[in-house]
Amino acid sequence: MSNYNKYLNKMYKGTQNDFYEVIGKKLKQNKKTFIITANPETIMFAEKDDEFQKMFDNQFTVVVPDGIGVVKAAKLSGIDITERITGVDIAVKLLEDCNELKKSLYLFGAKQEVIDAMKKVIKTKYSDIEFLGATNGYIKDKDKQMEQIAEKKPDVVMVALGIPAQEKLIYKHLDKFEKGILIGVGGSFDVISGTKKRAPKLFIKTNTEWLYRIICEPKRLKRFWNSNVKFIFKIWKEKKKF
Ligand code: UDP
Repeated sequence: MSNYNKYLNKMYKGTQNDFYEVIGKKLKQNKKTFIITANPETIMFAEKDDEFQKMFDNQFTVVVPDGIGVVKAAKLSGIDITERITGVDIAVKLLEDCNELKKSLYLFGAKQEVIDAMKKVIKTKYSDIEFLGATNGYIKDKDKQMEQIAEKKPDVVMVALGIPAQEKLIYKHLDKFEKGILIGVGGSFDVISGTKKRAPKLFIKTNTEWLYRIICEPKRLKRFWNSNVKFIFKIWKEKKKF
């Protein structure tokens, strides 16, 4: 039996709003938290990668089901997950909370022009955030950057480098952070900054955001096949065995 069930069981099972409350509390209480937004690709990595397994088990880690593939796979395995909670939605909520609570924030990842656009968004929409800085995700020494971020003791750190680089980088440096919510947010800065469009509401509502992303960027199809389709097939095969 694979570890899939273990990972699916570790997912946050409540509603998106419940999760927002949990995170809001952690932010208020300065509780160190590493949020992994897991889609099938993440779980497939976790299955073969020791480091990912350790980060799933870490005491500071909270895993959320970011993707309908995870919700469906869990159902097939008899695990009830209420709904998907996406990285981009959590990122927006964290910006709102940071603004309301006047907390500090550091952004790391995405292209320089996206970072510049993010700075503008923060200045205009979230001006009460104590903004500690932002660095693009194409610099060479990402470890040194994380060390420098840790020294600033931010309340929230968003890392947008894509899976699995963002999670691995956060986990490698997690010990250096005394507090703070750390999260890998994938392409969220591209969307929040307005550089890339998020799927229209209809796609989001019908859980077919993955389809929209493939239509816009056909090169994503291979990645989708290798993660989502293979993942669901594996879960289905495992279910048949028992
Ligand atoms: N990225 C980066 N440095 C890299 C590779 C990627 O900063 O070396 C950024 C990229 O610009 C994008 C994000 O990482 O903003 C990944 O986005 P993608 O949509 O692929 O992530 P997903 O949400 O699908 O994991």
